[in-house]
Amino acid sequence: MTTCKNCSFYFAVPENAGDFEAGKGDCVIEKEDAKGKYWLSKPTRNDSPSCKAFKTA
Ligand code: SF4
Repeated sequence: MTTCKNCSFYFAVPENAGDFEAGKGDCVIEKEDAKGKYWLSKPTRNDSPSCKAFKTA
């Protein structure tokens, strides 16, 4: 099974960030509705199993 690390929506927390932790990242998905674009962000980990929104570049 693949993991969040291989997904286009996965962004690792940078090492210089205050909340850096090995393997920690955010899942950021771009959405669009009548009012325009917005982003949904939630914390995840690079070894979390991929979800059904998984996407490769
Ligand atoms: S939670 Fe799903 S959409 Fe988000 S990074 Fe992981 S696999 Fe990708």
